[in-house]
Amino acid sequence: MTIRVRQIILRRVPQGVPVADDVEIVQVDLPTPADGQLLVQNRWLSIEPAVRIRMGGSASSIPKLPNYEIGAPLEGAAIGEVVESNVDGFEKGDMVVHSQGWREAAIIDPANPAHRVYQIPRGENIPSEAYLGLLGLQGFTAYAGLFHVANLKEGDVVWVSAAAGAVGNLVAQIAKLNGHRVIASAGSADKVAWLKDTIGVDAAFDYHDGDLVELLEKAAPAGIDVYFDNVGGEHLAAALEVLRPGGRVALCGLISTYNATEPVPGPSNMFSVIAKNLTIKGFLAVQYAEHLETYRDQARQWIAEDRVQYRENIVQGLDAAPDALVDVLTGRNTGKMLVDLR
Ligand code: NDP
Repeated sequence: MTIRVRQIILRRVPQGVPVADDVEIVQVDLPTPADGQLLVQNRWLSIEPAVRIRMGGSASSIPKLPNYEIGAPLEGAAIGEVVESNVDGFEKGDMVVHSQGWREAAIIDPANPAHRVYQIPRGENIPSEAYLGLLGLQGFTAYAGLFHVANLKEGDVVWVSAAAGAVGNLVAQIAKLNGHRVIASAGSADKVAWLKDTIGVDAAFDYHDGDLVELLEKAAPAGIDVYFDNVGGEHLAAALEVLRPGGRVALCGLISTYNATEPVPGPSNMFSVIAKNLTIKGFLAVQYAEHLETYRDQARQWIAEDRVQYRENIVQGLDAAPDALVDVLTGRNTGKMLVDLR
């Protein structure tokens, strides 16, 4: 027996910010799951900036992150409910995180590393969608970037860009929980107010409000030790100016380049790296996967003690997913962008 589901495919490579005609919603028939497979009904989709890179035609598209093929469904993290299981250890009703988002349902093979299956513990009193934020890639990226890439140490002053976004607000919160002074930047007055009043950062500014170096020097007169970079471009160049000797950059993302169609030059002030003995280290959180469960245990404790908050930006239904991606790429989200398919 087959079931008919809708999925979002790539129609053509976008030029710049994606537009409606770059993707299409199509119907496909899913077969009955074979031995070793699950039929999973997706409940939540994660909207992530990296999807834009994988659509192709971006200054940041690289072979390491294979592009989607024209006519093939987009991929991305999702949470789904097992509706049929032919896999030992998985039962109907189990919730799983996996990589086959951008569609209503999927055939999932937990033994396939590309499906990146994580079985959410049964009976846990935490909403499953937290596994697409605080307990998922975004929280873990924040943690891995701070502790394993930037090697955060006592007394470090931290600057995080795109700080009102999914990764950024958790970077700010985790650094604050560990006693650091945190400077946050974001793209609107509302986001800056949220970061100051609710997230509790020490200083925050809207990067549109003037020269970035001047804004940073005002927020951190004595300089910074760690820059958690979600943006790249001018933000990275400004960090090189204000980092103190021995400072570190956790190069997490370059969202300012994702819609660029031509190669984007690097910072022009690289001599600062030499003169101040700076370290710039890029990373993918998955490269630190051995620390994931340690992080999750810590984050569950923060949740139990009500010490961390997670904000979600929720849109309804598969049809809303393409616009939600554009919103993330153009700064119209605060917190984690999710699509509710329930
Ligand atoms: P966010 O929720 O932070 O959304 C992206 C935000 O980026 C927007 O809300 C916008 O906020 C900001 N932004 C967009 N364009 C620009 C620009 N030109 N200049 C400055 N800011 C801009 O997304 P995520 O938290 O999911 O991702 C944040 C970053 O982390 C991305 O670069 C992503 O690729 C990266 N990432 C890296 C991972 C890794 O393993 N290395 C894993 C996950 C994410 P604003 O209003 O402030 O401009």
